[in-house]
Amino acid sequence: MPEAPKNSLKPTDYNFGEQSKKTLQFIEDATSNPDEVQKKVLEEILSRNAHVEYLQRHGLNGHTDCETFKKLLPVITYEDIQPDINRIANGDTSPILCSKPISEFLTSSGTSGGERKLMPTIEEELGRRSLLYSLLMPVLNQFIPGLEKGKGMYFLFIKSEAKTPGGLLARPVLTSFYKSSHFKNRLFDPYTNYTSPDESILCPDSYQSMYSQMLCGLCQRNEVLRVGAVFASGFIRAIRFLEKHWQLLCNDIRTGIINPQITDPSVREAVMKILKPDLKLADFIEAECNLESWQGIITRLWPNTKYVDVIVTGTMSQYIPTLDYYSNGLPLVCTMYASSECYFGVNLNPLCKPSEVSYTLIPTMAYFEFLPVHRNNGVANFISMPKSLNEKEQQELVDLVDVKLGQEYELVVTTYAGLYRYRVGDVLRVAGFKNKAPQFNFICRKNVVLSIDSDKTDEVELQNAVKNAVNHLVPFDATLAEYTSYADTTTIPGHYVLFWELSLNGSTPIPPSIFEDCCLTVEESLNSVYRQGRGSDKSIGPLEIKIVEPGTFDKLMDYAISLGASINQYKTPRCVKYAPLVELLNSRIMSNYFSPKCPKWIPGHKQWGNKNCN
Ligand code: AMP
Repeated sequence: MPEAPKNSLKPTDYNFGEQSKKTLQFIEDATSNPDEVQKKVLEEILSRNAHVEYLQRHGLNGHTDCETFKKLLPVITYEDIQPDINRIANGDTSPILCSKPISEFLTSSGTSGGERKLMPTIEEELGRRSLLYSLLMPVLNQFIPGLEKGKGMYFLFIKSEAKTPGGLLARPVLTSFYKSSHFKNRLFDPYTNYTSPDESILCPDSYQSMYSQMLCGLCQRNEVLRVGAVFASGFIRAIRFLEKHWQLLCNDIRTGIINPQITDPSVREAVMKILKPDLKLADFIEAECNLESWQGIITRLWPNTKYVDVIVTGTMSQYIPTLDYYSNGLPLVCTMYASSECYFGVNLNPLCKPSEVSYTLIPTMAYFEFLPVHRNNGVANFISMPKSLNEKEQQELVDLVDVKLGQEYELVVTTYAGLYRYRVGDVLRVAGFKNKAPQFNFICRKNVVLSIDSDKTDEVELQNAVKNAVNHLVPFDATLAEYTSYADTTTIPGHYVLFWELSLNGSTPIPPSIFEDCCLTVEESLNSVYRQGRGSDKSIGPLEIKIVEPGTFDKLMDYAISLGASINQYKTPRCVKYAPLVELLNSRIMSNYFSPKCPKWIPGHKQWGNKNCN
């Protein structure tokens, strides 16, 4: 198996040229014989875990070959292993899924029953995640040389964590990574040289964290060669923060003293090492921020920036126009594709257009399989797809090296941490090959209709939330005739919009407060990732209900039919994205209402007693 490059050098003798060469060679090796690597990965996972309960239960009996594995192990979703996960969460430390101790749970933004899915992980997975990160800059350096001469201004955050009843930590994968020694004690590397002090990144208070990261980014503006965040939505939120707080930030730069609102002593100390009184800089930033137009604000304030490093694939593509506006069309670079289950791959052509981004799955990360996705009239048939696969469908899964160019697949992984033939829920399309390893466009997350940040709301959740909300209309003898939804990203942060057409039978007018109650009930009914985004993270704005004129949904149908939809098969889409449809709906609004407050959210799962560890 190709040996992962090790970064074992001290600051003084770090030779990024040498390190990069090793890294690129690793990618060459791993992609040149992916079949062999994948077989070894599976063998390793199965032999280590031969005695775990899950594999015994399925009768694997110590076999480590592909054929027996595929014959005996079912392709599963989260719900299939939830009882096992619950046992681990409740403190059962016997080897249920994995022979190594489960070190913590990673809380996915994918939900089950309204709560974040819990992904088991083991200590050594941190090494695999670090490996994937270490591939990114050597790849980029091939296209944009000289990045080691400056810094990256990245807005990185931790989120709150909880403890399971059995005492394991449950937190998002990035929180786990930033808090690990792999991040905190990283060896000197010009590629992980950030403007944000670790203390700011690790500050649990999101305001203090953002404020101090922005302040340090401004102070080091001339050193910044690249800017970014994990997802596009996070980076736009940082710009919005600057729009709101630049006066305070300029004041700090003018005086050389950090605002007393920043109370975390470790953050204050770290920032004070960077912040020096600088009248000229404060005046400059003030003049730029005072201009009416914020077009190109990134390139104006950070003039040496070469690219914006953010994920703009999948639902994040909705933010491309906003990013182009603020960055004056700087390249938008999507570097990697990863999840709580497993880190998957990297983009080997980082300067390509966002619409052409493809990710090369790194064959050492996990054992990958692919379930072909069949489309009906160009629409992936997800909703009607049965949750568990029958035998024939199970046989359709193909290996990494057997995927076909242009075909779409659902990703299925077997990980070192104890997921076996697990459906991640992402749909990928084969876009090409690097050596013998396929490269994939990210197409979509199955079933998701609405997403602003990391929230993923599916049609069933939306339907249920709307059903709960319309109860408020009953006393007014009003019913919901039709509805659809839209993710409005023209506001910062973006927000969910519901278009409602009502049938009014009663004579009492419905007061605005009732519609506001409806907004809040929808929000209260949505999953915990949405509610956390609304309240704790403030990454999603208040939900809006727009009441449209009677007959609007007939017009929507007429329009869809004029575009070629079959009249017999037409169903109201529960989410609209196509701009003319959104315009049609927006042109027929009679009134609109916003959720008056944030829905309730508590860290951890509802049933755990909700202990926040921060
Ligand atoms: P989580 O488990 O919360 O870390 O979320 C992982 C999910 O985020 C993946 O399964 C994808 O649906 C999505 N995701 C991660 N990376 C990318 C990417 N580069 N482009 C599009 N979607 C992504």
